[in-house]
Amino acid sequence: MKYAVVTFGCRVNQADSLGVEAALTAAGAEAVSCERADVVLVNTCSVTASADQGARQTIRRIHRENPDARIVVTGCFASRAPGDVAALPGVSAIVPNLRKDALAATLLPMLGREPGEGPCGRPPSPGLMGRTAWTLRAQTGCSETCSYCIIPTTRGPSRSRPLRDVLDELARVVDAGYREVALTGVHLGAWGRDLGAADTLASLLDALAHAPGDFRVRVSSLEPMDCTPAVLDVVAAHPARFAAHLHLPLQHACDDMLRAMQRPYTRRAFAALVDDVRRRWPDAAIGSDVIVGFPGETDAQAQTLASYLERSPLTHVHVFPYSDRPGTVAEAMPGKVAGPVVKARASRLRDISRQLSSAFRRSQVGRVRPALTIGDGHVAVTDNYLKVPAPPGLARNAWVDVEVPPLDGVAAEPD
Ligand code: SF4
Repeated sequence: MKYAVVTFGCRVNQADSLGVEAALTAAGAEAVSCERADVVLVNTCSVTASADQGARQTIRRIHRENPDARIVVTGCFASRAPGDVAALPGVSAIVPNLRKDALAATLLPMLGREPGEGPCGRPPSPGLMGRTAWTLRAQTGCSETCSYCIIPTTRGPSRSRPLRDVLDELARVVDAGYREVALTGVHLGAWGRDLGAADTLASLLDALAHAPGDFRVRVSSLEPMDCTPAVLDVVAAHPARFAAHLHLPLQHACDDMLRAMQRPYTRRAFAALVDDVRRRWPDAAIGSDVIVGFPGETDAQAQTLASYLERSPLTHVHVFPYSDRPGTVAEAMPGKVAGPVVKARASRLRDISRQLSSAFRRSQVGRVRPALTIGDGHVAVTDNYLKVPAPPGLARNAWVDVEVPPLDGVAAEPD
């Protein structure tokens, strides 16, 4: 009756794991550490070679420390390389992404429970999986063709959850006390394209803007081409409902590189978008992702990327060193960049990201922002994604207005 969940990778995996944890706790199963668990679910990622390696090492470690545990593996690595995963010690079952909806039904019998059995368990509440926010997955899969990306293979084409489903889940978790909801999808901007002409990301956001309850929505990663004026109009019109925070993956600032990556926008269009976001929302956090060392990337192109980032209004950047993913278009491209060169370029970009984060934080010192306490209540995260000390005496999941203090001792980003 004891289980543990280990989750790698993106917010979509977090949402999937949260959903499974909610079903297991509702059936009366108890969350424990991997060493004490009867069943361990490992939700894997395969976005880079090191993500695969991390999953392998974790599964081996769980088996070494708890040889009796039955290990169930799901996620992108399990979907991409099920044979490799099945050969790892202690693995009892593999649930590929396309069957993730059946995860709880797979795990519950292993825990001596049947799906739907209850009511001895508890509903989900803030703090489940150590997270104060609920991650609400509106969509999964991706129908784009980015040349480096394995995700369309491991997750299949884009599929949207009907609006009613999304709103029902939202109502459940808001009733359960969640005050922040991270809206997520593998390709969130594609929400609704497979549903009907009236269903767009802007219409989904509008429905969330008007849903009842005391909660805030943080929109997760949005592809630049999907962050339309209609989307920005909705979020800007409802500042109390939407956190002042967007994440817009650039990937590269050279149009040649963007073309080779098969990303459908130019650097100029991206720059105009983030400038527009900054104009509309002067205090917003604006994050991004970049890939460094993509095949054929020259020193000059790496320099162009670094120069753009330095001058941009971005507030933090996640830097992904390129690695071949099996079967992708980019895997077959010539001009692979040597490892030490990739490492040096990545290190420079991470320095720039730190500078952007520090500059943003300095710009916010003295401003009063709405924030939600996390963890044991000593720390809060502002709507614009700054971690700040909370006033004393608060528990997790409390709203508080905080004045942003100088940087000392507090990270510029919550995670
Ligand atoms: S939009 Fe591109 S990078 Fe994102 S999941 Fe789809 S194919 Fe991968």
